[in-house]
Amino acid sequence: MSQPFLSTTDLAMFFADHHDGITNDLLSFAEQWSPRDYSDDWLATRDAVSQLSAQQITNLCIPERYMGRAVNNPVDIDARAITLARECLGYLDGLLDCAFAMQGLGSYPISMAGTEDQKSRYLPGFISGERIGAFALTEPKAGSDVGSLKMKAKKDKNGDYLLSGQKTFISNAGVASQYIVFASTNPKKKSRGITAFIVEPGDNGIKIDPFEVMAPHPIGTITLRKTRIPATRRLGEEGDGFKIAMQTLNTFRLSVAGAALGMARRALDEATKHAMERQQFGGPLFEQQQIAAMLADSATELDAARLLVYRAAYLRDMRDVLGNNAAKEVAMAKLYATEAASKIIDHCVQIHGGIGVKKGSVPERLYREVRALRIYEGASEIQKVVIARQMQKDYEFVKSLAELED
Ligand SMILES: Cc1cc2nc3c(=O)[nH]c(=O)nc-3n(C[C@H](O)[C@H](O)[C@H](O)COP(=O)(O)OP(=O)(O)OC[C@H]3O[C@@H](n4cnc5c(N)ncnc54)[C@H](O)[C@@H]3O)c2cc1C
Repeated sequence: MSQPFLSTTDLAMFFADHHDGITNDLLSFAEQWSPRDYSDDWLATRDAVSQLSAQQITNLCIPERYMGRAVNNPVDIDARAITLARECLGYLDGLLDCAFAMQGLGSYPISMAGTEDQKSRYLPGFISGERIGAFALTEPKAGSDVGSLKMKAKKDKNGDYLLSGQKTFISNAGVASQYIVFASTNPKKKSRGITAFIVEPGDNGIKIDPFEVMAPHPIGTITLRKTRIPATRRLGEEGDGFKIAMQTLNTFRLSVAGAALGMARRALDEATKHAMERQQFGGPLFEQQQIAAMLADSATELDAARLLVYRAAYLRDMRDVLGNNAAKEVAMAKLYATEAASKIIDHCVQIHGGIGVKKGSVPERLYREVRALRIYEGASEIQKVVIARQMQKDYEFVKSLAELED
């Protein structure tokens, strides 16, 4: 069923209550942060996490009952808060945003499905910055189709699990203090046979091969060969893994849209400033109709994206009250915001002319940083599959109601 649209009052109230607090924390942080001092993404990530922690920003990723920071929701993390935080961080720097996001992706499965022992062992370190998170789902032969993953977890006679297989495109590979790894304990059951485990870098049989992507982002391939994991590091029950992965992604994929908004907002600010100040043909570039049209389109798309994103965040936070997990609205927001951000940043590069492609300029950096957002945590095409499936379900539901009334 379609959801009630987030009212302007809801949005205004949320921003009045929380926007200033969160953005002020992040702005004071921004004054000290200078990621370009680093030549090493691994060192930069460690430093980013400890600084985010010192500013009490990492605690937005952990529910209040485990010492995290509640905004509206005392029992879960607040989708609006983490989305807003990523909007602010995306505005500042892609690597910083990635460091924050991975603290959430790497801890949320524990907050949600961990035992009390696992929570008390791991969660405080995510807040203090001593622990750095990673979420290992993708494999060389299982990307969008995660249910087909091949990594196996075989139980031995002592009750330990032996994990064998490969994960790739794992953010924070090599820098993380533990990995949430998804492996099959029962391949016949396909996605229902997937189980989640906490793997630590000191475990036996682990090989990590880092590689580079087009923007700063610690990432790599992880190979496990009969890596022994005690049952105390299994998350939830056998077979719960797919559900844990999807619930985590449903929450964090929306924050990817938040990061896209931040990057797009930065691009629009930079493009507007440049168009007002750069003089060509006897006046500012902004006087040229084609430039003004690009800026007007960008401003409109950014606002449209922002409304979709915060509507979805609101619905996600209200999911228990509304009885709907807002998967369609989250998918719409991720799809639209990441695609719009790419267009807005492309316009920003175009408006800057040659400077826009000069290595080290802000438009050039944003152009590289935004690209992966349309791919990870469900590529744009997969978001369309989710939206279309939900539309079919909605149609069937309305039809069945009509048939009942006949
Ligand atoms: C920078 C970066 C960081 C990442 N971090 C992590 C991480 O920390 N942990 C993790 O587990 N993974 C991570 N990933 C992996 C990411 O989630 C996958 O790349 C993504 O899910 C897509 O999988 P794939 O690359 O195998 O592409 P494929 O699944 O092979 O897809 C290739 C193309 O085909 C399209 N396609 C696939 N299926 C369909 C379909 N049914 N209909 C239409 N089009 C389709 C896709 O949309 C895509 O455009 C990261 C990726 C990147 C780039």
